[in-house]
Amino acid sequence: MKNTSKITTASATKFSQQILAWYHEHGRKHLPWQDNKTPYRVWVSEIMLQQTQVATVIGYYQKFMKSFPTVIDLANAEQDEVLHHWTGLGYYARARNLHKTAQIIAEQYQGEFPQDIEGVIALPGIGRSTAGAILSLSRKEHHAILDGNVKRVLARCYLVQGHNGQAIYEKSLWPIAEKLTPKKGVQFYNQAMMDIGASICTRSSPKCDICPVQSHCIAYATNEQTNYPQKKPKKIIPEKSTIMVIPRLKQRVLMEKRAPAGIWGGLWCFYEVNQTEQINALLTKLNLKEYQREELSTFRHTFSHFHLDISPIVIDVEQIVSKEINDHAEQQWYNLHHKVEVGLAASTLKLIKHLEQR
Ligand code: SF4
Repeated sequence: MKNTSKITTASATKFSQQILAWYHEHGRKHLPWQDNKTPYRVWVSEIMLQQTQVATVIGYYQKFMKSFPTVIDLANAEQDEVLHHWTGLGYYARARNLHKTAQIIAEQYQGEFPQDIEGVIALPGIGRSTAGAILSLSRKEHHAILDGNVKRVLARCYLVQGHNGQAIYEKSLWPIAEKLTPKKGVQFYNQAMMDIGASICTRSSPKCDICPVQSHCIAYATNEQTNYPQKKPKKIIPEKSTIMVIPRLKQRVLMEKRAPAGIWGGLWCFYEVNQTEQINALLTKLNLKEYQREELSTFRHTFSHFHLDISPIVIDVEQIVSKEINDHAEQQWYNLHHKVEVGLAASTLKLIKHLEQR
């Protein structure tokens, strides 16, 4: 279904009323970002909730807000500090964009979010749905939203063809979302739609018997709920491999900071080489002398567009420079027992945890 004229105004009103009634009775109203709903607080929660479950986000959100209570605090923070608060959440471009956007809001908008939705959408890392969520949840402005959970509910109710990532799918869903979104109570409606998508209309086993919009749902009526949204064709992603070199000096391991853009941009990682023959040259460059090495088991880290098989090698070293520590902006000896607050790539964190336990 692509034509919203098939949804009558009366049916759209009934749909939104049922959603609102469900929200007032069952909706979650005490999540940390539901207190004091400013655009800043809603924005941070929306970005964290992209790709991450509510239960995981809560702790990260509270810590983030404690360190950066306002958009100005976030703008003034070091990128390392922001990435440190993101360590473990993954998809670090989200954190880099949050930081960049906070700086734009501080410098160009006197610390206030832009007044119009176009201005919000123009900010790094904020798409149409996130902008709609920020402005509707915090300022009660009338905007539809269309995150992954809402898409699933609407695709099932109105049998919308396509799958996530397909332009035609989004293009068909937006007019439906707009037609159904009520002016009054928009902040509750949008919150409820996200919650229903996440907790009731789940991907593989929707709880249709407790769904407030069951009477509107064509997929339910035809018993084809799990056929919508349609499955994304499986993409075969390439496999790559790397050797991670972990120079270790007693309890400290040497790491480098990655360039700001690209994979693990701005995060602290171990050094990488393509072949073991390159390790000696790297140690010479780092002014380190090896006295023993140990190969750890290879493990796989999967990015959205490739698999990376990582073979870590721990090299116990004696430093041959006179200074005991040669930390600088792009290199640090990370103490496994006195951690510093820096952004760590997921694979770095995994290896650190492994080394701590030995
Ligand atoms: S009836 Fe079932 S499939 Fe339809 S929207 Fe509700 S939970 Fe989803």
